[in-house]
Amino acid sequence: MGLRLNAHAKINLTLDVLGRRPDGYHEVEMIMQSIGLHDTLELEYKPKEIVLTVSGVPVTAGQDNLVLKAARLLQQQAGPEAGAIIHLHKEIPVAAGLAGGSSDAAAALRGLNRLWNLRLREEQLMKLAARLGADVSFCLLGGTAIARGVGEILTPLPPASRFGVVLVKPAFGVSTAEVYRGLDLAKLGRRPDTSAMTGALQKGDLDLVAANLCNVLESVTLRLHPELQAIKERLQEAGCRGVLMSGSGPTIFGLTADEKTAGEIARRLNLPGCQVLATGMV
Ligand code: ATP
Repeated sequence: MGLRLNAHAKINLTLDVLGRRPDGYHEVEMIMQSIGLHDTLELEYKPKEIVLTVSGVPVTAGQDNLVLKAARLLQQQAGPEAGAIIHLHKEIPVAAGLAGGSSDAAAALRGLNRLWNLRLREEQLMKLAARLGADVSFCLLGGTAIARGVGEILTPLPPASRFGVVLVKPAFGVSTAEVYRGLDLAKLGRRPDTSAMTGALQKGDLDLVAANLCNVLESVTLRLHPELQAIKERLQEAGCRGVLMSGSGPTIFGLTADEKTAGEIARRLNLPGCQVLATGMV
């Protein structure tokens, strides 16, 4: 019997950079939120071999694919007999700040743990996730959470209200490494207030959530791609209550009261060259 799993994208409601570690990674503090937009993984048992096929948004099916990296890492625990045919259907835009690859890797860990009957506990899966990438740990947990360290130290938060989300992904991608290189830690400008955002989410107060949206990477990516400013303004004019860039970008999201309103705004927006999607928080 095969397995089918959804791998959800995320947005950052806040993103703060606290410092740079000697190993070059940045210490962050961010509030992450899973959204309805998702890729799909289908897994079927096959002895010894791991085979990956991909459809939808183009992405490599080679060794660089994070799904294969996750599968190989777990295979070290399962032994060489364990194998799988994995089909990845991609809906999440690539290199967009939506953690698509990380979410696929998390779903592969979770799914293959079941397919191979390994019974690894949550904390064991979390350790493997942290080895695969900074956002994989959050993607394994999902929902709403504060992420610290390089993103792997998680504090789950109560589920947030199911606000709507309009996503605008321009035609270009952004390299996370390049954005961090452009960041001057001495000049971060406005910083997020994590406890204020946590309180706003607990109250389910959309205007308070909107007022606390803050990402210190936004000004760096906006400097590299000034056209993102116009997208932010268009989302605001179209009726989104709060607008922010997700992760290192370039995806800009707008929040609405519910998914239906997000859908209406997405249909009205005319942004040539951009992909416009409506979804909701999950
Ligand atoms: P984050 O928000 O975690 O920084 P992102 O949304 O900016 O992630 P991804 O879509 O995860 O970025 O892709 C980043 C890189 O990872 C791309 O260059 C892509 O080629 C590579 N990659 C490897 N596996 C995958 C996958 N399964 N899906 C998407 N990208 C993948």
